[in-house]
Amino acid sequence: MKRDDHPQRPPTARPERTFLVHGVPVPAPPLAPGLYVVATPIGNLGDVTLRALSILAAADAILAEDTRISRKLLARYGIETPLTPYHEHNAAEARPRALRRIAEGQALALISDAGTPLVSDPGFKLVAEAVGAGLAVTAAPGASAALAALCVAGLPTDRFFFEGFLPPRSAARRERINALAAVPATLVFYEAPSRLAETLTDLEAELGARPAAVARELTKLHEEVRRGTLDKLAAEFAGGEAPRGEIVVVVGPPQAREAVDAGVLDGDILAALRTLSVKDAAAAVAAKHGLPRRQIYARALALAGESR
Ligand code: SAM
Repeated sequence: MKRDDHPQRPPTARPERTFLVHGVPVPAPPLAPGLYVVATPIGNLGDVTLRALSILAAADAILAEDTRISRKLLARYGIETPLTPYHEHNAAEARPRALRRIAEGQALALISDAGTPLVSDPGFKLVAEAVGAGLAVTAAPGASAALAALCVAGLPTDRFFFEGFLPPRSAARRERINALAAVPATLVFYEAPSRLAETLTDLEAELGARPAAVARELTKLHEEVRRGTLDKLAAEFAGGEAPRGEIVVVVGPPQAREAVDAGVLDGDILAALRTLSVKDAAAAVAAKHGLPRRQIYARALALAGESR
């Protein structure tokens, strides 16, 4: 008997899909057509939900940023669904193809190299166009480095603002940080290790000595969280070798402090200028009052000019 002639199996039936948990096969029921946005681990391959695995196993294809990276996750869980590249360089051509497949009745999963797709990762336009075309979009939530860092930073979590990556160049970075200074929330940044030291310096210059945390390699072997005020963290990371791995910087919200009297501030700046350069005097007074160094530097420059 030919396979499709089997009396109990309709001609269109597909083989049962499964995934493996500790070597044990788990059935993955068929999916309704649509786009499935699936979070994957940010390091520790154990951080993936059973539902995510079931969707990845049952999908017609998985859209993945770097298929070599995603293959490791799929191999770990015995998933054989074909991977299709979807990244910022091919998205313009890959997107209409993916939308066509969904419109024809397929179930496609979208994943990124790590964490939640669309969070500083590709996928926004795909989701927006799928929604616009009336296609079903379903989330399978899970890990994201921003939330993992927020959980361990020890900073207020009632309100937080996710900024993602700051501009790579210092002038643009400072301008952006300055625009965030009044946001009444904990700030969450992604940063490359090679830029960490200069970003911490810029954060301190624009935001003052706020409490902060640098969360590195979360969920991985060399996980580390350093906590302290921005001036302390900037000093710790300055000058040395760039740290390795992946990093999230979390910065506490602005303090609802009593405004420092302008006369007191001027007195402190003038006193500091007697023994220190304008730059060092501004740094000392800014640290004393927990105020942005840039603001104090401008005032110190003016006072130094007047007293000449
Ligand atoms: N979509 C991902 C998510 O949901 O977290 C983020 C992707 S973004 C391209 C990559 C950045 O996330 C890294 O440069 C780093 O800032 C942060 N990141 C990812 N994994 C991390 C980890 N295990 N520990 C600390 N930061 C991490």
